[in-house]
Amino acid sequence: MQNANQEFSDEVSRGLRPGLTGRLIGLPGMETARARIAEWIAEAASPAHTGDLHMMLLGLRRFDTVNLAYGAVSGDGALAEVAARLQHCAASELEDPSIVAHAGGGKFMLAASEPCSRERWQLIAEQLADVVSRPIVVPAGVVRLSPRIALLRRQPREAVDAMLDRLSRALDRAQELRGQRLAWAEEGGKGGVAPPGRSAAQLEADLLGAIDRDEIGILFQPQFALSGGGVEDDRLMGAEALARWDHPEVGRIGARALFSIAERTDHLAPLSRHIAGRALTLAQGWPDHVRLSLNVTPTDLAFGSYVQQLLDLVRESGFPPRRLTLEVTEQALLHDVEQAAEMMAEFSAAGIRIALDDFGAGFCNFRYLKILPLHYLKLDRSMVDGIATDRRDLAVLRAIVAMAGALDLQVIVEGVESEAQRALIAAEGCTFYQGFLRAQPMSAERFLAVAQTSASGA
Ligand code: C2E
Ligand code: CA
Ligand code: CA
Repeated sequence: MQNANQEFSDEVSRGLRPGLTGRLIGLPGMETARARIAEWIAEAASPAHTGDLHMMLLGLRRFDTVNLAYGAVSGDGALAEVAARLQHCAASELEDPSIVAHAGGGKFMLAASEPCSRERWQLIAEQLADVVSRPIVVPAGVVRLSPRIALLRRQPREAVDAMLDRLSRALDRAQELRGQRLAWAEEGGKGGVAPPGRSAAQLEADLLGAIDRDEIGILFQPQFALSGGGVEDDRLMGAEALARWDHPEVGRIGARALFSIAERTDHLAPLSRHIAGRALTLAQGWPDHVRLSLNVTPTDLAFGSYVQQLLDLVRESGFPPRRLTLEVTEQALLHDVEQAAEMMAEFSAAGIRIALDDFGAGFCNFRYLKILPLHYLKLDRSMVDGIATDRRDLAVLRAIVAMAGALDLQVIVEGVESEAQRALIAAEGCTFYQGFLRAQPMSAERFLAVAQTSASGA
């Protein structure tokens, strides 16, 4: 039975069969993925060019034992959660076309059609591995998965099948490696694996000095209040601080990669402190109506001293606490929700508001909405992606906005990219939004100029 499964998923991952369960877990199968990748290759300006098409194949080690130990329902639930996490992560890291597909069993494929350095592709893989390794709550308990990832960049004139073949052989090898989660498919070789580029260990070492070398920067993404009129009538309401690492060799490293490296090096607390202190200082001169949002990591909330530390930083900066919002994800609450609720109550008492971030991205525990002192519900981008084209997506949004209203929560929508989406969220009664439609994350100087214009103008 296991062999038949193994054979089947091998065939699937080599693209010989479509992924049968793809639809069940909300992802396309390999057939669709191969067709899409073939289209990208056909459309490419210079087909001989290398470096614009990247793929990775993620395999969950010993996934069969999850089904055996927890039952097939829990196994399917875990796969669906992995699929949602991969999609969420890919959507936030990649700008150009990308596809996440189910390659059968415990295997997933990610392909992206964008110029990307070897280092960056590897960082994205590290991040996916981190995200997938986090505990997953299933009906029968909590599952921890152990992913392995094979990576490749397309070689000149390489066809889809050849790439898939290289990947799947490299993954087989990677599954056998101990203590190493990533393997590059060897170029031109027959299924070997090449050593990683700038290794995870090197990056971890680099991060230790990055704060002191002032390589960690902050961008601010404007947030707007929905008006009754058009998009240009929407008033600036605040900004979310988003961290970036300007690595001298690798180039710019995104927030998710930065935080997963920091997590592995136990460097989250100093990094969070640095970002919060910096953002608060930069926000100090903003006009009175403009709020600042800071992201809180799960690790922050696990430290009993976090509340006092942050309150001290706020006081030192002179930024008024009543204009500060903390964005907390459900992941951050998994550890100890009662303790998190107490900490949030202390923040609330100081006038700071709390937003539940990434709502709708993974599993939703509605109990959190009842027991936490929340002010805002921040809807994940995946909740609005389809509202302009799919009636069911709009129905889900409508129900959530109604529930938020009944709980006295204001809704902030994230990832608004089109006029159509903005018009719909306005009609549904959402209050605020951010997204590329109005503004990308920007430097502190540019944001200050935007804020000052908004204060003097409308
Ligand atoms: P998040 O809190 O959900 O932040 C929003 C992310 O969505 C940002 O990605 C932002 O650039 C992106 N985004 C905003 N509008 C759009 C849009 O219209 N379309 C698309 N495709 N994306 C949009 P970013 O900056 O890469 O941050 C990723 C995640 O890293 C954040 O997700 C947050 O969880 C974490 N993060 C970022 N900065 C910090 C930080 O300073 N502290 C902590 N603890 N976490 C951070
Ligand atoms: Ca956020
Ligand atoms: Ca979010």
